[in-house]
Amino acid sequence: MDRPNHLLAGLGELQLDEALRLLRHADCGGLYPPVVTDIPGLQAVIDGLCELSSRDGLTGIPNQRHFRMVLERELDRVARIGEPLALLLFDIDHFKQVNDRYGHPAGDRVLKAVAWLLEAGVRPMDTVARYGGEEWAVVLPSSLAAHAEGAAERLRREIEDMPVFLEDGTQISITVSCGGAAIAPWTGISPEELISRADQALYAAKQAGRNRAFFAPRPDSSVSPAERDALFDSEGSGRP
Ligand code: GH3
Ligand code: MG
Ligand code: MG
Repeated sequence: MDRPNHLLAGLGELQLDEALRLLRHADCGGLYPPVVTDIPGLQAVIDGLCELSSRDGLTGIPNQRHFRMVLERELDRVARIGEPLALLLFDIDHFKQVNDRYGHPAGDRVLKAVAWLLEAGVRPMDTVARYGGEEWAVVLPSSLAAHAEGAAERLRREIEDMPVFLEDGTQISITVSCGGAAIAPWTGISPEELISRADQALYAAKQAGRNRAFFAPRPDSSVSPAERDALFDSEGSGRP
């Protein structure tokens, strides 16, 4: 795949610039103590800072905090409206070796390239976030397990095929491992439990040799362990 690396650079910095520009335009009317006279301007500053706080500084994509907010909202929809949902976790394989061999700036370039590819490779309704240093989370609303498994494998392959050009023109390539978990409509499950399921699948993918996508086994029941415990607590414990 051929994609210009200059398009990947500086997303985080651009957003900071934008927030600073908004701050400069929060006009206090020259009054002291400052009284904000430009209410729409102030609202724009608040909106800009909210946006900034939900993005990762290096890659410009949503950060973990935003991901958790989206996951909570979408899981609520699964339980209330009866939509299926899937979560994918990606982790770059042997990323430490990229830093060690080519330097930290080269590693940063790889991170921006992966963020770009993941965002370009999903639907507008999906959310790609930087979950940790070299880990990514993808929330796929309204997605059945088969769709999510297909998407995970396609993204894994596209990353494997993507050339990353370093500043001196050196071309390198990387691979990722993926852990996924899909849940059926009407399922009640906490964000932590879903993340844990995907994380276990990711661990299994790493153990199996990396550069592969594994999925958590689908539970038979659409009742979460927490709900089942609550049920047994009230009905099975002998309490009134
Ligand atoms: P594995 O295949 O088991 O995932 O091995 P790994 O080397 O990818 O994993 P490990 O956890 O050992 O190393 C992750 C590395 O990611 C270490 C850390 O320095 C690097 N890293 C984390 N955040 C950043 C960043 O923002 N920029 C760069 N360049 N490196 C980062
Ligand atoms: Mg990792
Ligand atoms: Mg890794």
